[in-house]
Amino acid sequence: MPFSDFAGNPETIHRLREMLARNRFPHAVILSGARGSGKYTLALMLARTLNCLEQPTTKGTDSDGLPDFCGHCSNCTRIAQSEDLDSRFAEAVEARENLRDTDKKETRLFVQTHPDVLIIPPDPPQLMIKVDQVRHVIETIYYRPGEARERVYIFTSSAFMKEAANSLLKVLEEPPEFASIFLLTENPGELLPTIRSRSMTFNLGAVAVTEIESRLAQLRPDWKAPQRALVARLSEGAIGRASSFDLESYVAARSHALIMLKSALGSSDNNNAHTELFKVTESYRSGAEGRTKIDNLLRTFYSLLEDLMFLQSGAAQLVRNTDILGELKKMSEAADFAWVQRAAEGLGEVERGLRRNLLRSLSLDAFATALERVS
Ligand SMILES: [Zn+2]
Repeated sequence: MPFSDFAGNPETIHRLREMLARNRFPHAVILSGARGSGKYTLALMLARTLNCLEQPTTKGTDSDGLPDFCGHCSNCTRIAQSEDLDSRFAEAVEARENLRDTDKKETRLFVQTHPDVLIIPPDPPQLMIKVDQVRHVIETIYYRPGEARERVYIFTSSAFMKEAANSLLKVLEEPPEFASIFLLTENPGELLPTIRSRSMTFNLGAVAVTEIESRLAQLRPDWKAPQRALVARLSEGAIGRASSFDLESYVAARSHALIMLKSALGSSDNNNAHTELFKVTESYRSGAEGRTKIDNLLRTFYSLLEDLMFLQSGAAQLVRNTDILGELKKMSEAADFAWVQRAAEGLGEVERGLRRNLLRSLSLDAFATALERVS
């Protein structure tokens, strides 16, 4: 997957590749961006470009003349094995779980599929970068790479324990010539100012809906065009969130939210609608699984209410649930702006009730009843 496959942020990618071309790649790079914006994907692409044995810069006529990676040499393929971070992380956690208790305590988590490229994830259960992880970086970083040109270290989170951050700072004060450190973060403000001042920060901004839609055509051929349009609008400009979007859960939650909305906005003496509504609210049970289910329902409900507000204020182009636009239009005609606002307040009540551990099905019932009363 060479750079042309990276979604969005072409100027940032261009700047980074130009620095590679001029051999002026910084020793420490902060890649900042929302969850799913492609920080990790980009860091692995840069790690491969730094170490690709083929360097397809000068080959081919359609090349843009900037450094790229081949994707099939032994360095590229081994680094690419780290792409599925969730799976590699789960394997590392499991491997540690299987150790004897004494060894378990002393073993820190890493993901490593190439001897010179080390990925440092936050260490569970606290999910923080710990000082022993940074110590391991210090122990290895001053040795020349064996099979790569450049040692690469990728910290996948900026949640550092205090001592760990201070240790990292020491490395950044005297980085070796042949190493690059990547710090991935959703919020650079979490990093020490002294760490930030010794690094170059690159921000990955939101990707346009149309670009996400066309990328999804390749990444998720199993989705139909209206589904891709929906997911592109719901993923807030983050390609990673779009490609891994749980469409099935979303649609299930949305069908429940629609039943509740329609029941409130339709004829209130409709027995069928009430029976259906009761079946829905009753299905929200206690326990961890129920918690995720109701969180999905509430989030979906807000997105529908927002869409109704967009329609009522004449901003139909902002609607995200485009695949059910007809239904939404009908509802927006049946409800006025004040109703939608009261409904949103009612949702807030349900959320507060959940925090006080009210029975989920009961708070939903109360909400549904309240919705009908305001209509
Ligand atoms: Zn290569």
